[in-house]
Amino acid sequence: MRAVRFHGRGDIRVDQIEEPVCEEGQVKIRPAFVGICGSDLHEYLAGPIVIPTKPHALTGGRLPVTLGHEFSGTVEEVGQGVSGLKVGDRVAVRPNLSDGTCSSCAFGRPNCCRNLGFIGFSSDSGGLSDHVTIPARHAIRLPDGFPLDLGAVVEPLTVAWHAVDRSPVENSQTAMVVGGGPIGLAVVQVLKARGVKHIVVAEVSDRRREYARALGATHVFNPLTDDVVANVRTLTEDAGADISFECSGVQAGFDTAMKGIRVRGTTTIVSLWEKKPVIDAFDVVSYEKHVIGAAICEDGDFEAVIEAIASGKIDPRPMITSKIRMEEVEEKGFKALANEKDRQVKILIDIEA
Ligand SMILES: [Zn+2]
Repeated sequence: MRAVRFHGRGDIRVDQIEEPVCEEGQVKIRPAFVGICGSDLHEYLAGPIVIPTKPHALTGGRLPVTLGHEFSGTVEEVGQGVSGLKVGDRVAVRPNLSDGTCSSCAFGRPNCCRNLGFIGFSSDSGGLSDHVTIPARHAIRLPDGFPLDLGAVVEPLTVAWHAVDRSPVENSQTAMVVGGGPIGLAVVQVLKARGVKHIVVAEVSDRRREYARALGATHVFNPLTDDVVANVRTLTEDAGADISFECSGVQAGFDTAMKGIRVRGTTTIVSLWEKKPVIDAFDVVSYEKHVIGAAICEDGDFEAVIEAIASGKIDPRPMITSKIRMEEVEEKGFKALANEKDRQVKILIDIEA
């Protein structure tokens, strides 16, 4: 069968590998649509960073790994001892794997596992293949009629769902999202679904500001030409936003996210950082601000996002900017994301095409 494997920096190949055998407790899935994540791109351009070069502590997986951790598909075989799933079920896949034994897991936070692994990133099976076997509990059933292409964007939306849940969203009227990449745009959609009245987005790209508007932002600003913090103050009777989400991964964005919140406001960091940012601790102390992090997702987030899409509270279709074939994954997938950042949000690989 075909599998898109990462062999090293700038080296992605469509390889022929053995079809996996469905073992006890597993399901075998025929992937339908697979999204390319910013973390995949990061590995392609600068890796291997997180992708293991030695056997992973939890999965044993190592280079070359099969990519694809944002995906939907159809169950084609059910292993022994599996209940609640049958052949033909359509599913979204929850990719994060945890050891269940470390102090984070014992604390009830497997998303912060010390031996965190991912299907399609640090294991030898991933969604970018003709067949994949995964532990059955990682297959989340989609309701009848749920489009499989939307099933592939559930995972990035769960990251946003969790980030919004970490923040005091229930008591918030005004939220600011700094950075309009895939995760920032996912946060915008979740804030809208959660009923936040004013959703302010700061993003430098014109096209991405348009996407932000289409997905639910009520105010968009260009930090290169607009004073975002002053504009947020104007909107909030000089107070500042109740909550902000740092989704840019750059210092200027982090500063905006922190400066733009009110007294005792909360900034949630969702972005991943190569370089440690500087924090204005005096501002944090003086205005009693909160700075928190949000990693991956928690139990129930997949179900919540699936329900929000099924009921129309979230319509992520504008996020999907391109659909390509597996053989085009490098040229029209990775290279397009690297070179046409402006025009692409989510590129999906249609495995059957
Ligand atoms: Zn753990």
